[in-house]
Amino acid sequence: MTNTMPAGSPAPSLHDEPSPAFGHEVLVTGAAGFVGSHLCEALLAQGHRVMAIDNLSTGDVGHLDRLLGHKGFTFQRRDVCLEVTPAMERATRIFNLACPASPAHYQQAPVDTVLSSVLGVWRLAEMAQRTGARLLQTSTSEVYGDAQCHPQHEDYWGHVNPNGARSCYDEGKRCGEAMLMAYRQERGLDVRIARIFNTYGPRLRPGDGRVVSNFIVQALQGEDLTVYGDGRQTRSFCYVDDTVRGLMRLMDGEHVGPVNIGNPGEHTMLDLAKRILAMTGSRSRVVHRPLPQDDPRRRCPDITRAGELLDWRPEVSLEDGLQRTIDHFRDVLGARSVTVA
Ligand code: NAD
Ligand code: UDP
Repeated sequence: MTNTMPAGSPAPSLHDEPSPAFGHEVLVTGAAGFVGSHLCEALLAQGHRVMAIDNLSTGDVGHLDRLLGHKGFTFQRRDVCLEVTPAMERATRIFNLACPASPAHYQQAPVDTVLSSVLGVWRLAEMAQRTGARLLQTSTSEVYGDAQCHPQHEDYWGHVNPNGARSCYDEGKRCGEAMLMAYRQERGLDVRIARIFNTYGPRLRPGDGRVVSNFIVQALQGEDLTVYGDGRQTRSFCYVDDTVRGLMRLMDGEHVGPVNIGNPGEHTMLDLAKRILAMTGSRSRVVHRPLPQDDPRRRCPDITRAGELLDWRPEVSLEDGLQRTIDHFRDVLGARSVTVA
């Protein structure tokens, strides 16, 4: 499907601080996904032109609805593993987000997950080498695995099961990083590596399977909140606007990374469940389900590097971010009933 959109709609107003790299032709892969759709909006708001690519495996083209009339925006349904096109070669900057991110999704499609993180990154790296474009890879806190260092700083090498349930994602992303550093070292490719920690916000899909969307959907529908294991494992949740601002800072700056992009506030899953119950006014119960294999026990970013190199830190509190996300799910769910993944 090729869908080049007509002009007409008003520009989005998200993130309107002026960009030092004004007016780039930007390729965003994985653009119809949760983070990708917010990133496209923010780039357009800064005056860039955006070519959005997505194979719609876990994304939703409806996330891009409000951008479809923007004159600087095009969307094409494409798989980064299969091809790059002449249109994509016009990009001077590439944000690569094309990869399933929810454990429920990537464990249903482990081969596609590895391929997206390895073959997809390779295709984009080859293209960027030909064109001279700057390529930013969205890597992940999962490269640290079930970390033995806390909080996790970028120099920690990680503790990852190389062939377990999460390895398609964790090792795929590690290989993606290795590939880009190899291209940089041997061929001078202009790369950026962001290690994103758990990000949440509006446009998480109700069936996404990640914990924030699961708990909110369950709470709003009066269903049991499914806490995996004893619920004492921790995550650090970053609101999507903060994550997107961090990615754009990294792209605009001179530092290759890797740079952690995350919110250092650390919460147990039990605490998250209780907050969401209180904020939604839900009378749902908390129930426990088996802990998935290799589920990391503690996760919290050390964001010293992002602060020093990018002057970036998160600004949205968990309370505010969750409220905006709950409001979003109230709108989306309306009268319909959804089963979480
Ligand atoms: P998402 O699943 O909502 O978005 C991923 C998008 O990529 C989807 O729209 C999907 O259809 C698309 N896609 C997948 N494989 C593709 C392929 N081969 N070709 C083209 N498109 C493809 O996930 P998200 O949360 O928006 O994550 C975006 C990126 O950020 C991912 O690369 C993910 O690994 C990374 N990341 C996200 C988080 C987070 O908490 N959201 C944390 C760490 C890293
Ligand atoms: N989790 C949970 N209930 C759910 C979904 C997830 O308790 O319905 C837990 C999961 O076991 C993990 C944490 O929440 O410990 C975060 O899971 P998520 O899938 O959001 O992201 P991860 O950080 O594991 O990739």
